[in-house]
Amino acid sequence: MKVTLLGTGTSQGVPVIGCTCKVCRSVDYRDKRLRVSVHLQVGDKSIIIDSGPDFREQVLRERIRTLDALVFTHEHKDHTAGLDDIRAFNFMQQRDMPLYAEERVLKQLKQEFSYIFSGFKYPGIPQVQLHQIGNYPFEVEGVLFTPIQVMHYKLPVFGYRIGDFSYITDVNYISEEEKDKLRGSKVIVLDALRIEKHISHFSLQEAVQLLEELQPEQAYLTHISHLMGLHREVEQQLPDFIRLGYDGLQIEL
Ligand SMILES: [Zn+2]
Ligand SMILES: [Zn+2]
Ligand SMILES: [Zn+2]
Repeated sequence: MKVTLLGTGTSQGVPVIGCTCKVCRSVDYRDKRLRVSVHLQVGDKSIIIDSGPDFREQVLRERIRTLDALVFTHEHKDHTAGLDDIRAFNFMQQRDMPLYAEERVLKQLKQEFSYIFSGFKYPGIPQVQLHQIGNYPFEVEGVLFTPIQVMHYKLPVFGYRIGDFSYITDVNYISEEEKDKLRGSKVIVLDALRIEKHISHFSLQEAVQLLEELQPEQAYLTHISHLMGLHREVEQQLPDFIRLGYDGLQIEL
């Protein structure tokens, strides 16, 4: 399996429009963060988790030429806004795009992209096939996904474990029961918004504490805000097995 971090930035991305802080002015490519998303290549299957507003740019950058399915973590705009751009794959692959999400998220997608689901199908709109999931393992094109239900303030959202890889974005609390599903992961990608505590995301310290408890071989932090600081400086303070993610980072496992 090859994992590519398509985006590692919080909902506004980094740089933030209009901001002149040192992170937003940084010329280090690792300080330029598109909205969070991840690409999984498992054998010949190509799967993306979340289609945020930067979906098109990310797919072009990584030269992703086929896409077999989209899996959603939750309905926030920074995870769904790019859905319209799956049209390119509809045209190329001549098939509907399978979307996997829980009932609440599917309902929200139907509202926000009502033209996709209306009775009258305007030519050229996205063609989708909906798959409702719950908190139990499911297969995406033969690839086994195990959901991990975590809390994002008051919103339950899904992280996913796929083999030895776990991906959890948008979280500030994980129950012991759900944490158990993460144990034994070789690689974990985990939410860490900034240094200071936040109502709906792990802070850097909270994320590091959890990773020290779970002890994966390697961990990467994601959903990072400009308030986290410069990539280069923050990395120096982290234990060796924890790195900040950056856009384009590839993990083979
Ligand atoms: Zn800034
Ligand atoms: Zn969110
Ligand atoms: Zn988010």
